[in-house]
Amino acid sequence: MNAPITRPVPRPGILDIAPYVPGKSKATGGAKLYKLSSNETPLGASPQAIAAFHAAAATLELYPDGGATLLREAIGKATGLAPERIVCGCGSDELLHLIAQAYLGPGDEGLYSQYGFLVYPIAIRAVGATPVVAPEKDFRTDVDALIAAVTPRTKVIFLANPNNPTGTYISFDEVKRLHAALPAHVVLVLDAAYAEYVRRNDYESGIELVSSSENVVMTRTFSKIYGLANLRIGWIYAPDHVIDVLNRIRGPFNMTGPAIAAGAAAIADREFTRAAVDHNEIWLPKLAAGLEAIGLKVLPSVGNFVLALFPDRQGKRAPDADAFLLSRGVVVRRMEAYGLANALRITVGSAEANETVIAALTDFLA
Ligand SMILES: *Cc1c(COP(=O)(O)O)cnc(C)c1O
Repeated sequence: MNAPITRPVPRPGILDIAPYVPGKSKATGGAKLYKLSSNETPLGASPQAIAAFHAAAATLELYPDGGATLLREAIGKATGLAPERIVCGCGSDELLHLIAQAYLGPGDEGLYSQYGFLVYPIAIRAVGATPVVAPEKDFRTDVDALIAAVTPRTKVIFLANPNNPTGTYISFDEVKRLHAALPAHVVLVLDAAYAEYVRRNDYESGIELVSSSENVVMTRTFSKIYGLANLRIGWIYAPDHVIDVLNRIRGPFNMTGPAIAAGAAAIADREFTRAAVDHNEIWLPKLAAGLEAIGLKVLPSVGNFVLALFPDRQGKRAPDADAFLLSRGVVVRRMEAYGLANALRITVGSAEANETVIAALTDFLA
């Protein structure tokens, strides 16, 4: 006999979700705090975006434009893409969830790579679908493993390229090879949150593939290079039929007016974006080299962060390093949730922050 149900019960799958643990924002020691735990930019936001945000405060009583037209047009102007094929969201997280909601349900499988972004299993489970994980080789997306994991139940594949937390990427040829192997009904989601940072000739964010096929979408964010994480702005570029679906299920006012205004100003400020790329160009290799010089293994990253692997030695493992860094005012990201208990993800920060983290880890490992 079944016990009587005494309170509401969520749909199957929901309580299997391990709640997402955001990066810490507080340290235990140090005169100054260096937050290198969430891949935020050390350069702040464009002054023009900040001015647009302030100006938007004059009309807080009004509902925003539900179509986020100003922002979609600004994205169109900056990228050459048709604004009609863009939907904006409350962070790209919302768009990843909307794709899951639209194309996955109980009995379906959502596929992603072993160290893929942890929002994917959350979005998959939240709609009652089954997460399927394809193994990686050397912390890199393995296209053959993804192809091998596709079944008749696969409906969506989430691919972060470059990937967070590993920082590694696969070439556009590899992305195209994956796409060519997929049945037409499978949605391939290219999550290009770090695309602006990548300086590699064989990399593409995926725009061309979205334009030339019916089952590829690309998501982007204003949270990383544009320094607007606090405003929650993401966008998706997709075929017409997917745009139509997303516009039916999204909240009619899923973007705030201040976010629309600031995002539009941010993407138009090319000088600011260029400065952010330049900063990363200088400090990504310096940070990686500084950590390697003291004996850590650092994965080759093309984003604005590195994943450092720690020695398997008593007192010198990643959790020990994390505690030591916190005592010096440096907050980085623990990786237990990704099954990488002996790794830490470190965001490229200001010159001072990067030097502080290298100096602190030098003392830690000494
Ligand atoms: C940071 C990040 C995002 C962006 O999320 P928002 O909701 O837009 O802030 C998306 N995908 C990956 C892989 C990320 O690392």
